[in-house]
Amino acid sequence: MAAGIFKVPLPANEPIYDYAPGTPQRQALKDAIKALYGQQQDIPMVIGGKEVRTGKTVDIYPPHNLHVKVGQYHQGGAEHVKAAIEAAQHAKKEWAATPWHERIAIFLRAAELLAGPYRYRMNAATMIGQSKNPFQAEIDSACELIDFFRFNAHFAQRIYEEQPYSPRGTWNRNEYRPLDGFVLAVTPFNFTSIAGNLPSAPAMMGNTVVWKPSNKQIYSAIVIMELLQKAGLPDGVINLVYAPGPVVGDVVFRHPDFAGLHFTGSTTVFQHMWQTIGDNIAMYKAYPRIVGETGGKDFIVVHESADPDEVITAIIRGAFEYQGQKCSAASRAFIPKGFWNRIKDKLRHEMGQLKMGPPEDFSNFINAVIDRASYDKLVGYIEQLKQNPNTEIFVGGGYDDSTGYFIEPTIAIVDSPYYVTMCEELFGPILSVYLYDDDKYEDILPIVDEATPYGLTGAVMAHDRKAIMLAHKYLEGTAGNFYVNDKPTGAVVGQQPFGGSRASGTNDKAGSALNLQRWISTRTIKENFNPPKDWRYPFLSEE
Ligand code: NAD
Repeated sequence: MAAGIFKVPLPANEPIYDYAPGTPQRQALKDAIKALYGQQQDIPMVIGGKEVRTGKTVDIYPPHNLHVKVGQYHQGGAEHVKAAIEAAQHAKKEWAATPWHERIAIFLRAAELLAGPYRYRMNAATMIGQSKNPFQAEIDSACELIDFFRFNAHFAQRIYEEQPYSPRGTWNRNEYRPLDGFVLAVTPFNFTSIAGNLPSAPAMMGNTVVWKPSNKQIYSAIVIMELLQKAGLPDGVINLVYAPGPVVGDVVFRHPDFAGLHFTGSTTVFQHMWQTIGDNIAMYKAYPRIVGETGGKDFIVVHESADPDEVITAIIRGAFEYQGQKCSAASRAFIPKGFWNRIKDKLRHEMGQLKMGPPEDFSNFINAVIDRASYDKLVGYIEQLKQNPNTEIFVGGGYDDSTGYFIEPTIAIVDSPYYVTMCEELFGPILSVYLYDDDKYEDILPIVDEATPYGLTGAVMAHDRKAIMLAHKYLEGTAGNFYVNDKPTGAVVGQQPFGGSRASGTNDKAGSALNLQRWISTRTIKENFNPPKDWRYPFLSEE
């Protein structure tokens, strides 16, 4: 029993290293990259705290360097998913009974380890395995994951502090228990921080977890697991399995103790999972919590009062950082024709400055897209844009897979706000631009709103306050994260809680108390210090 009411240290965002030439951080990161390239990682699953190797191995190649094997992972099957559930169930009682501040301390220690000794290895693994440049890796796999740990610790405390009113003679208390059963975390390839946060957030609140990462992120997932174990996470609290998604779903969604899904990935996969859970609803002991952050078709709307340089910067950073493989990446832009004529030459020039190549060459802004399937899909869209007489590739349009999956950052001008590349999530470095008549700003806003089923991020670029107010009005439900005069990417934990609605997810805002609240089940206790001794109410008495 704790002899004190403890307070989590106040969180602050982890400072971002810039890796500028001559800095010791740059050298340390280069050394870590070199060390990883010099090893062949043999990556096991981790179930009940034990490394599990099946011998059924899958080789790992960096997306930007298809001729250099960096390791292999051991693929699991249904029996490993079952073992992971058993391990989670076995660990649950003790973990749930561990005082909240003791649980939280493990994640605060993980944050400290990641800020220090694990930083370079985590960033190097993300750069090699997911093809991110040093800055993109730093803001993701180091800073954002550290922020998730520290801020969630703080939000957890605030949840535990929140207690109901107690009138005189009674004491009302809320006890924030974990969910009944185990949680499944299914994570995407594109953010190491999300991969770390999805299993950790429910675990902080006392749940035990089966974690299925994307098979394109396993190279850094194992570093997260090692970090958590090093920080003192007990065996079985988070169990890492590499079985194919449908196999995981098949076992987990039929289990009576399945208590919640923490998912980030594409809309179709999430909808399929939700449907399966719905079909199986009578099997479960409790109603599972379903949290999913999914796809987007994120926009930049430019008003003629905007600043040209601010627009060019928002476009380049918002659409092309990490090759457009952010759920929040701008992939459609609406620009007045006159304004376009003012920026197009400079935009083309600046786009020409973006160097593309492997991330270990720090001068590259653009690296490879994640895999063959993504490359082929993007090439298909580029060819479609090239062949359509009504669309124009303004810049880019090249691709090359001789050494890695390289797609040139591409801007296309399309003739309709409903053209296929204006509506579908491509998840790559392709921005479609629709040029609207200069006096049609107010007409274009409702089209931005209803042209896609998504509702994730978007930005308005305008200096005219009335134009900003109109955007607020028409685009109220179009983006869960809405930016004014800023790119639509780069949400920071503790500053812009992240998530979208409509087809983009359940909008439970990762990195906020709103998300943590989905992983608890509250018991309310009323204690009466002065219980009544007579059942009769006064109104029953005779006049
Ligand atoms: P994905 O949907 O292909 O995969 C996500 C996860 O689901 C992976 O672990 C994958 O193995 C698993 N999976 C796939 N099919 C499955 C099935 N049938 N059953 C169970 N699991 C299955 O997504 P991805 O390519 O890894 O990531 C990109 C997508 O994620 C994009 O659509 C992007 O917009 C979205 N995303 C959204 C957010 C957000 O916060 N809204 C953040 C990051 C990524």
